Amino acid sequence: MANKLISLKVALIFLLSFSIGCLVIYSLESRRELESRALVTQIANSHAQSIEKQLSRSLSATLALATILKENTSFPNFDSVAEDLIKRYGGISSLALSPDAIIRKIYPVEGNEPALGLDLKSNPKAIAAIETKKLTIEGPFKLIEGGIAVVGRYPVFLQNEKKGKKNFWGFTSVVIELSQLIAMADIYGLVSKNYHFELSNIVFIKGERKIIAQSSGENLENPVSVEIQIANKKWLLSISPKSGWYPFYYLVWEGLLVLIFSGTLSFMGYRHLCRTEDLKRTNLKMIQEINQRTQAEKRVMIHAETLQAHNKELENFASIASHDLQEPLRKVIIFGDLLLERTKNLDEKSRNYIERMQNASKRMQGFIEDLLGYSKISSGRQFEPIHTEKILKEVIEDLEARISESKGTIEYKDIMDLEADPLQIKQLFQNLLSNALKYHKEGIPPVVTIHGKLLDNGYVQMSFGDNGIGFDEKYREQIFKPFRRLHGRSAYEGTGMGLAICKKIIERHNGEILVESSPCEGSIFEVILPVKQSH
Ligand code: ADP
Repeated sequence: MANKLISLKVALIFLLSFSIGCLVIYSLESRRELESRALVTQIANSHAQSIEKQLSRSLSATLALATILKENTSFPNFDSVAEDLIKRYGGISSLALSPDAIIRKIYPVEGNEPALGLDLKSNPKAIAAIETKKLTIEGPFKLIEGGIAVVGRYPVFLQNEKKGKKNFWGFTSVVIELSQLIAMADIYGLVSKNYHFELSNIVFIKGERKIIAQSSGENLENPVSVEIQIANKKWLLSISPKSGWYPFYYLVWEGLLVLIFSGTLSFMGYRHLCRTEDLKRTNLKMIQEINQRTQAEKRVMIHAETLQAHNKELENFASIASHDLQEPLRKVIIFGDLLLERTKNLDEKSRNYIERMQNASKRMQGFIEDLLGYSKISSGRQFEPIHTEKILKEVIEDLEARISESKGTIEYKDIMDLEADPLQIKQLFQNLLSNALKYHKEGIPPVVTIHGKLLDNGYVQMSFGDNGIGFDEKYREQIFKPFRRLHGRSAYEGTGMGLAICKKIIERHNGEILVESSPCEGSIFEVILPVKQSH
């Protein structure tokens, strides 16, 4: 579904960008065509002017002949004058004089012999020239000697001295070959400049165009056309670029560009859409994972709460059970004492049994007391600022009997104050110091040193070092577990709960306890506690 949507969007992007590209190309091409048409119009105008100028120049030879005629109608030096005019004006094939509209003189005669004696009175164009008294152009038509030409005829009217009015004398005429005219106006130069041209004659009566000259055999496509108006003639010079107004290779290139543009845009759109889709999917997955994790956390919280409730229950049970167990044990000891007092004649073996029973009961009392202490740690007093050194001094005082009995010494320095439960800290010091005194080497008085140190991270470190029996490093984890002992009861008294209680107290205070030891070389217990409980 998502893939289909992406494909649809990509197709839309392609269509949109392609249409925009085509529109841009179209507007650019239209502008370019306008510019090219303006340029071609300039070129056409300049060439039209050249044709006009050259044609007028060639035709003006008839006027020059007429001026000479007016002075001398016999015109004896016609050939030399005509030769001179042809040279001077250019583009002229021949010049002729036609008194009474009959061609009598022609220069050059050679090649034009069939024209001599031709009567023009039957020629409607010649008659029109007489009537309008204006220079009239006839043609273009094919010449007998080959080529296409136009004829300019100027009707000459001479002053009749007797009657005082002007009478028609005849025509001065000029034959202008088109190929020469076009060559002189440099029309073919357009072809080398990559243009096609077409020169056509507009036939007024029929309202149609007759092509006089063209550079290609085909009709021009949407050309720029300029009119050339001379005498009675109207010609049209049309020009268009050889490659058309929209060159094919331009269109191919531009089409390709538009395709590349819309293709690139669609590809970028596709990449973007895919990435967005991926992001969406990842987000959805993350939300699902977060939901799952929140639910799991909720479950863990519920478990923790249940566990806490169970622990509380267990602590209560341990406390009640310890209390209840103490009573029968006390009775066993008291009745044991009474039994020993009352039965004086008890044999040695029976007395020993009773004493062993009483010792076992006392040991049991010790276990129960430690267990009770252990179970109460987590529900101790609130943390408060304590005078640590003062507590330490109290503990040392309490241990005075043991210290003097073992001839031991306890030294301390840099003991810092903390935020803690004072009773539990006292218990901690008591357990660590009594162990240090208890596990001393036989015959060597215990030397215990306590050093405090403020750490950078807001914690204090207290090291309890002794010169006692030490133990193997491999037991450094085990000794903190409840009822774990490394030495036999017969050698050293104890329940195996002392260090377990220490660890639990330190954990409640968000601290840590570590130990370094090796057999016969003493031990160092490191206690790390936060100065303030907010840490
Ligand atoms: P216990 O009642 O046996 O002393 P603890 O939990 O206090 O119980 O200690 C656990 C065990 O760790 C002891 O049985 C002893 O083997 C060892 N231990 C504790 N403190 C020291 C010490 N300072 N030097 C050597 N061994 C020690």
